[in-house]
Amino acid sequence: VSRLVLVLGDQLSEGIAALKQADRAHDIVVMAEVADETSYVQHHPKKIALILAAMRKFSQHLQEDGWDVRYSQLDDTENTGSIPGELLRRADETGASEVIATEPGEWRLIEALQDMPLKLHMVEDDRFVASHDMFERWAKGRKSLRMEYFYREMRKRTGLLMDGEEPEGGKWNFDHDNRKPAPDEIDFGGPMQFTPDAVTEEVLDLVEARFGNSFGQLRPFHFATEPGQARRALTHFVKHALPEFGDYQDAMLDDNRFLYHSLLSAYMHIGLLDPLEVCQAVEEAYKNGDVPINAAEGFIRQIIGWREYVRGIYFREGPDYPRRNKLNQQRKLPPLYWGAETRMRCVGQAVRQTEEEAYAHHIQRLMVTGNFALLAGIDPFEVHEWYLRVYIDAFEWVEAPNTVGMSQFADGGIIASKPYISSGNYIHKMSDHCGQCHYRVKDKTGAQACPFNLLYWHFLDRHRERFSGNPRMGQMYATWDRMSEEKRRTVLSEAEDFLERMSAGETV
Ligand code: FAD
Repeated sequence: VSRLVLVLGDQLSEGIAALKQADRAHDIVVMAEVADETSYVQHHPKKIALILAAMRKFSQHLQEDGWDVRYSQLDDTENTGSIPGELLRRADETGASEVIATEPGEWRLIEALQDMPLKLHMVEDDRFVASHDMFERWAKGRKSLRMEYFYREMRKRTGLLMDGEEPEGGKWNFDHDNRKPAPDEIDFGGPMQFTPDAVTEEVLDLVEARFGNSFGQLRPFHFATEPGQARRALTHFVKHALPEFGDYQDAMLDDNRFLYHSLLSAYMHIGLLDPLEVCQAVEEAYKNGDVPINAAEGFIRQIIGWREYVRGIYFREGPDYPRRNKLNQQRKLPPLYWGAETRMRCVGQAVRQTEEEAYAHHIQRLMVTGNFALLAGIDPFEVHEWYLRVYIDAFEWVEAPNTVGMSQFADGGIIASKPYISSGNYIHKMSDHCGQCHYRVKDKTGAQACPFNLLYWHFLDRHRERFSGNPRMGQMYATWDRMSEEKRRTVLSEAEDFLERMSAGETV
């Protein structure tokens, strides 16, 4: 008898584990666009469009390849609206009683599959370098789980940028070279864009009709929706942007949204690109002398280091991870995250670009929107839901550790050894936003003081008990304590006033 083979919207790889286990002659592939998945949070319309278009194309490809695929479109009248519901419907239809599934990247869905009244064979997703077992072996018994040590293991395991037993270039990490402020000119025209074909256009119409009111602009839509396109986007990036990727990785520019970033994350997550293939292309460019070591190493570290590491943390920490709130921050996410007017130029630009592109690069996410939320004391679960909704590459296994752990310190320091906070000075150094801002980054107090300056001290002051003993933060507290008491009182009361006005819905 045939078995059902579940392929989810972020498992669109020919070599996905469940398909490898299945028998093309007998088994039946189930793919389903379901309301539950499109609406458990209100995703950015571009994200829904990317996934649905790529799913439809992948199902066609499987059919051409000889698979029997039962595909449910979102607007099919019989669609039950959930993944378990669709599996049960297909089981009824075909007489199958067993399901082969590749482990989903989210606890919610893993649990939903386990609760189904069908026999389930859940196989591990092997599109990652580190299996759950491997991560556990690495993590077990360690006092702290710093990414850097994990990353070195991954380098050795993959052999990427290795010179025998030694790291290529004599150092594991060239991050020190990757902190240059924004250059005056960017000679990269941005990621490769693709004109939607008929399949994608049909999806765009559907998404417009059903999700047109969600936060986020659907059109223009230029993402790759099939592997061939994604590979071209990779080649384009390696050739035209990678050489400068390292140098300007942390820079921000008011009128350039992409700088030298790749925009490849979503393609890797949904299965259009194999992460190792991406790293190998980067390594090859380095070996050919086309890109410097700090760019190649910096990029490969993001993928076999950070990407693998956060996944390991997500699965190791368990389903309650997104709900953690170790700093007990309770403020509601203010409307400026949904595009309400703000006078903070950096935040306004990051949010607008997020709305239009479903994209912001790492430093915008970490040091602008993330930093602001942390300083302002926003409830980390609300921050988590925001990031999960608004970015094209937001899947819980990668989004939650980055938001809850790295950015909001709500896990109490599993991922980060100290909170990623900064005053306006960092943003001023790394970007050109401040020159066009209503606030004055040099002002520490007063009507036009940069809110990041006020909130920075407010954060340190209100979390003094937790952080003053942290050796990496002693300097910050020493600076704070050297200020006169009057100055400190002014800073704190202006910060309070700012927060109150923000929470009352005033434009800040
Ligand atoms: P590039 O700058 O070109 O980097 C190359 C690749 O490295 C990325 O494609 C990505 O696969 C990987 N990478 C880089 N940094 C990280 C990281 N910290 N964790 C995992 N992979 C990384 N990334 C997501 O993929 N999904 C998310 O939902 C997500 N949410 C984030 C939330 C916050 C608060 C923060 C601070 C970061 C988040 N990141 C997330 C990490 C990072 O910002 C994105 O991976 C990156 O911006 C994707 O754009 P890119 O492809 O142009 O990346």
